[in-house]
Amino acid sequence: MTRADVAVVGSGPNGLAAAVTMARAGLSVHVHEQAAAIGGGLRGEALFDSEVWHDICAAVHPMAAASAFFREFDLAARGVRLLRPPISYAHPLDGGDAAFAYRDLAQTCARLGPDGGRWRRLMEPLVRHSTGVTDFLLSGQRSLPSDLSAPLLLGPRVLDHLLRGGGLRTEGARALLTGVAAHAVGRLPSVPAGAISLLLGHLAHATGWPLPQGGSVRMAEALADDLRAHGGVLHTGHRVTDLAELDAGVIMLDTTPRGLLALAGDRLPPRYRRALERFRYGPGAAKADFLVGEPIPWADPEVGRAGTVHLGGTRAETLATENAAVRGEAGEEPFVLLVDPAVTDPGRAVGGRRPVWAYAHVPNGDTRDPVPLITRRIERYAPGFADTVLASRGVPAAAYERYNPNYPGGDIGAGAITLTQSVFRPTPAWNPYRTPLPGVYLCSASTPPGPSVHGMCGHFAARAALRREFRITTAPPLGPEGGAIPIEKTRRAP
Ligand SMILES: Cc1cc2nc3c(=O)[nH]c(=O)nc-3n(C[C@H](O)[C@H](O)[C@H](O)COP(=O)(O)OP(=O)(O)OC[C@H]3O[C@@H](n4cnc5c(N)ncnc54)[C@H](O)[C@@H]3O)c2cc1C
Repeated sequence: MTRADVAVVGSGPNGLAAAVTMARAGLSVHVHEQAAAIGGGLRGEALFDSEVWHDICAAVHPMAAASAFFREFDLAARGVRLLRPPISYAHPLDGGDAAFAYRDLAQTCARLGPDGGRWRRLMEPLVRHSTGVTDFLLSGQRSLPSDLSAPLLLGPRVLDHLLRGGGLRTEGARALLTGVAAHAVGRLPSVPAGAISLLLGHLAHATGWPLPQGGSVRMAEALADDLRAHGGVLHTGHRVTDLAELDAGVIMLDTTPRGLLALAGDRLPPRYRRALERFRYGPGAAKADFLVGEPIPWADPEVGRAGTVHLGGTRAETLATENAAVRGEAGEEPFVLLVDPAVTDPGRAVGGRRPVWAYAHVPNGDTRDPVPLITRRIERYAPGFADTVLASRGVPAAAYERYNPNYPGGDIGAGAITLTQSVFRPTPAWNPYRTPLPGVYLCSASTPPGPSVHGMCGHFAARAALRREFRITTAPPLGPEGGAIPIEKTRRAP
């Protein structure tokens, strides 16, 4: 294998964002992926039927639609169509009732009745400052916000979320907001969960909660195509077990701190090693994939128009089940996120058969088969669902790690989302991407700004490495038209 300027371990969205950024800066980049296919959390598979495609991990992409990295990379110009459902997310309740976050804020407020005005006051200013709010919350958290109104708008709202559930009074609106906060997969209520609920909550009415036509893998393919077009090389099917295997000037690790510990072993200074060992992992995700013969028979048919459905019951019930999962208590009716992709992308249904994607929040390392748990939860709001299932597959939280080492015990956030670990991710440092090993950087969701498909961890890590290791301070162009910056590579003297 030829020596590269940069070796990237892992081809998740952050690994690929780092690779693209560095290749666009004129460097030679090799990506090493342990799985047979690239993409990490963007991978998909025809699980039960050669024609019906299932997203194995990420399915819905509000963060990618809004993040600075993907805004400039421009998925649409590369042929990736982000399809936006008219209802970003729905939250069914018992008795056939349900609450809805329509793409249209006014429609949402009208439907929320007495809480409509409060929802508007919560979300409308954020929608107006959406780019600033998104860039602030998806930043490396080490620089001043580009839009100073973002922290001013978010501060009181996060506090309100923490103390009063956003000040909402009706059961539907309270459940709707708590369901978005549950995306933090951690203690509720909390500051990070409040921030996440406001980020995702306002995006539902701004850039939307889209699904890429054909599945999330299209995004990975677009990133890989750009990388190859700029000289990058992708190797699959080999798990890197030691940093010494890599013949490169700079190494970018799309791994967790646990992955870095395994790759670097005794070479890490004891203090940094201990800090990485203290990094905590959060509750797990247990996933069920269904092949069904008809659309889900929701008690309220309007739920069937939503791109994403939160199955968590009332606010009180969601708080109880999420906090139980944090404490390691395995409940019988966990919080479930569900997507019927063919609602938004009809091409995902083939010959009447369609995929259903659902995962439950469970304790880290939970070994239970999630199919019965999730089926029961869906049946509560869609009686008769079980009769539509043609085939199913469950991945317990404990098993996710075998599929992707970045999900220890099923923690799909690559590290718990606590207040401390939101800022000091993975360790307290001004530059969280750099490790004490010369030229070795972390670029995964275990670094700021954390999990989801937005590419920002990889992009920020790459920018940090470009500045320090190659003295490249100009941001490389990422758009489809921009070529690599013609630079002279001057590797910094060690
Ligand atoms: C069930 C599930 C549902 C999700 N839903 C959504 C969603 O709808 N929307 C959303 O935005 N996010 C979602 N996520 C989260 C999202 O997938 C992750 O936050 C995101 O993929 C993190 O990107 P990453 O590049 O940091 O890591 P990953 O995508 O996890 O990629 C890491 C890659 O590194 C490889 N790797 C690790 N160690 C090595 C090694 N030693 N050698 C070689 N290769 C290695 C892994 O195989 C993997 O391919 C979901 C995740 C799961 C599991």
